[in-house]
Amino acid sequence: MPPKKRRRGERITWLAIGQQQPSPPDGDVVEPDAAPEPTASLPAPDPPTPIETQAPAPRRRLHGGSSPAKSAGPVCGHTWAGQRCDERGEHVCATRVAHVCGFFAEVLVHTKGRWTHQPFVLALWQVAGIIAPLFGTVVFSDEAGTYVRRYRIAWIELARKNGKSELLAGIALYLLVADDEGGAEIYGCARDRDQARKVFDVAERMVKLSPVLSRRLKIYSTAKRIVDERTGSWYEIVAADAAGNLGHNPHGVIMDEIIAQRDGGLWNAMRTAMGARDQPLMVAATTAGDDAHSFAAAEHAEMQRIADDPARAPHVFVYMRNTPADADPWDEDNWPISNPAAGTFLSVQTLRDEALEARNDPSKENAFRQFRLNQWVSQSSRWMPMHLWDASCGDLWLNPTWGRDKLAGRECFAGFDLSAKFDLTAWCLAFLPEDDSAPIDVLWRFWLPESGVEKLDKLNDGKFTRWSKQGWLTVTEGNVIDYDRVIADIGQDAADFAIRGADCDEWSMWPIINRVADVCGLDAEHGEVAAYRNTYERMSPGMDEVIGLVKNERFAHHGNPVARFCFDRCTVRRAPYDPNLVRPSKPERGADRARIDAVPTAAMAANAMRGYAAGPMRVSAYEDTGLMVI
Ligand SMILES: [Zn+2]
Repeated sequence: MPPKKRRRGERITWLAIGQQQPSPPDGDVVEPDAAPEPTASLPAPDPPTPIETQAPAPRRRLHGGSSPAKSAGPVCGHTWAGQRCDERGEHVCATRVAHVCGFFAEVLVHTKGRWTHQPFVLALWQVAGIIAPLFGTVVFSDEAGTYVRRYRIAWIELARKNGKSELLAGIALYLLVADDEGGAEIYGCARDRDQARKVFDVAERMVKLSPVLSRRLKIYSTAKRIVDERTGSWYEIVAADAAGNLGHNPHGVIMDEIIAQRDGGLWNAMRTAMGARDQPLMVAATTAGDDAHSFAAAEHAEMQRIADDPARAPHVFVYMRNTPADADPWDEDNWPISNPAAGTFLSVQTLRDEALEARNDPSKENAFRQFRLNQWVSQSSRWMPMHLWDASCGDLWLNPTWGRDKLAGRECFAGFDLSAKFDLTAWCLAFLPEDDSAPIDVLWRFWLPESGVEKLDKLNDGKFTRWSKQGWLTVTEGNVIDYDRVIADIGQDAADFAIRGADCDEWSMWPIINRVADVCGLDAEHGEVAAYRNTYERMSPGMDEVIGLVKNERFAHHGNPVARFCFDRCTVRRAPYDPNLVRPSKPERGADRARIDAVPTAAMAANAMRGYAAGPMRVSAYEDTGLMVI
């Protein structure tokens, strides 16, 4: 649908209020000359919606509708660009579809890369799959005395990078200025402000780059608000983590990446607030998630039921493109199922590169399936390819003190994770390499109370007792870990090596972390000790560092069997809002036989080393709310 060329001096009426011609309730045909705007010079509408002719995309779930008798209701009479719709009853209104498509192509522009400034001409799959049915399907409303959109809620599930943000931004702007709604309130909602900004920022840029919109709309960039003063309408962002979500009267709600929302609070609040308008629209777009117990998973399941049986919720429009679980993920022919933009604005080569990486890395396979194939996956995936781990051993130590002398006096960094009962308490030291290509020696100490050993032995074939006899694991008496023993052992390391910094799990308890700092002679005031939780942002850099070193055979763990046990069993989670962020997934307590404590401590030691490399003084911990310094 390329935009037609307009002669100079022609009037643009896309933004005018009053385009939509309500049909008289008696069913009379609206006279053509009743059209409120001289529209003859505007581009003719596109041929009737391509929905009837377009072959359905593979596995597309399109909410077809319950199609009541066509004779119900008066003639539609919607007029646009010299064309009038003569349909009655529920129908896909060609002039409405033409209006939306024309708005995108004539008013909106692309904002990214080589497409910047180009007219936003919707792709056929976007029109046929989403815009035409969503904006075109109308029913006669007795309440409003006119035809209104059938769908109030749209659920769009697509793989990443298929132009979701641009489409959502375009929809937001359409609802703001072109939907014939005075005082329209449009809300861009997401988990937090940063996420909500993603679509808003695209919309803001579209407004700036669009000759029409830049004249009409006022942008309040800091407040994240776009205002149409002429109609008293605005578009602003609302974050789920901000208080005061209620009290809105939305005409449009744009809900981005619903998988990242912690619960259904904001979604439900917006949904119930939509009652006061004639044809409000709430559009949720997301990529598949990885948490079967999340709010998004429950909605996804419900949307699937609606896709299968539209009568279940006739006001809900569902567009889902999920690759079936049994499809071969490495077969390129399957990629367009979830990536309709593949080959146009989504590079197939990028997908190929990622697929190649994912084949060699179990945790990336999960991310590839989730974000690229739009498959709902299990939350955590294995992380360390153990053949690479074994190759990165360095010289093999037959006991924990085997090569310790060689490291005497060397500079190193520590990671510490204290557990009271059944988890391992772990302490990891990573030694500064002698040059940039030399391996990094890594040592651990592990402690466990007696009662924990019995339990873990039962589940793991007596391994923990064996390790205790070999010296890899220190078992302390009683039910709770012996803190004095832990501090004494760490003190021994502090005497043997030059410990330059330590990162600790914040749950390790402050008095203990203080004692660790004291015994190591570390100055917390100057950022030599940091404590934080197992979050994506905190753990990712260290995790990436560790796996990078392992892949380059520079992570010399010397065959520590307890560490191997932990790395082999460690599963990771990827942040729903950024697949590049990763953190270890804690094994469930109780029956779970896995222990992984060597992994977070190694990542923390790597973090401490990275911080040191960044400069003698680390960023002041007090400026960072995620980080506390003791
Ligand atoms: Zn119509």
